[in-house]
Amino acid sequence: MYPLLTINLGHLRENVRTMKRLCGEHGIRITGITKCFTGDPEIARIYLEEGLEILGDSRVDNLERLSGLEAEKWLIRPPMLSEIERLVRFADVSLNSEIAVIRAISEEAVRQGRKHKVVLMADLGDIREGYIDYEELKRTAVEAEKLPNVEVGGVGVNLTCFSFIQHDTEKLLKLTSIADDVSEAIGRKVEYVSGGNSAALDLMLRGGIPAGVNNLRLGESLLFGKERARYQYLPGTHKDVFMLQCEIVELKEKPSLPWGTVGVDSYGRRPEFTDRGPKRLKAVCALGKQDFDPETTVPADPKMILLGASSDHLMLDLTDADGEFHVGDPITLQLGYFSTMRAFTSDFVKKVYIDS
Ligand SMILES: *Cc1c(COP(=O)(O)O)cnc(C)c1O
Repeated sequence: MYPLLTINLGHLRENVRTMKRLCGEHGIRITGITKCFTGDPEIARIYLEEGLEILGDSRVDNLERLSGLEAEKWLIRPPMLSEIERLVRFADVSLNSEIAVIRAISEEAVRQGRKHKVVLMADLGDIREGYIDYEELKRTAVEAEKLPNVEVGGVGVNLTCFSFIQHDTEKLLKLTSIADDVSEAIGRKVEYVSGGNSAALDLMLRGGIPAGVNNLRLGESLLFGKERARYQYLPGTHKDVFMLQCEIVELKEKPSLPWGTVGVDSYGRRPEFTDRGPKRLKAVCALGKQDFDPETTVPADPKMILLGASSDHLMLDLTDADGEFHVGDPITLQLGYFSTMRAFTSDFVKKVYIDS
């Protein structure tokens, strides 16, 4: 039965409600991003029940899982040429930066008798996806608009994901000017000006997002109540939507420092240890890096110390924690973004939903 992931749908609901209200006050519609939880429709359903109308995911497989839900679906990673058939089937919109891909989308959309909108991405400094030559972006928009069954849905930018370049007013003004140029070139106003991800919220709350930006693609802030510029939790949100229980398989008093000659770990790094004394209550739990990410996880009891993990063992120091522990007891962990993503992709983790 362990490891067991508990998903608190009630807390998620309150997060979505808070974020929708905050974004609404700034004229911004949310695309609810589902990639952290592999497009689980039980969870995505909460986004829609709280009034979001657009879902986005980086993988077509996850969009396929969402196909029973009534919403506009976005693929938020540039599509692979090798997946265009399924892209057109399961997505209504995709973020794009290659004309060859857009041409292929058009051909396939004609074949399937479907329509598809392309949002053209501008790279404004993060050096991930998007056109760096904004004239080329505009020419692409003009060509895309003429292709059958394809329409230019708008323009977008992604920041703070690879180079961790922050959103600022100047960059988003640039995006709105690109949007205006594209609108003029295609002869109608584009629908979406998509200004970024959860890292744009801090700027939004300071009133720094220019009028004209009308969409943000939000994942982490909906799920954890956290904006990603200063990594602060927003008031009225919960950070405990995803809690993972694992089982103690060994419990012994051991020293805090290892003994013998220290080598390097699998990444070639020399591990470091804190001396907390010769006698500490140490637990080994049946959970590993296959199932969670120790760097984005904290024990629910702040008096427990997460010492680290190997692929299948989690080591905890329980000396200062309240209560008595036995082999077979569960330990509860609070998961952050990457840890949650790993729990969802691990076949070993069971899942339960609560709605409180
Ligand atoms: C993952 C992703 C998002 C969502 O990012 P969060 O920081 O979780 O809000 C938005 N846009 C793109 C293109 C992404 O890849």
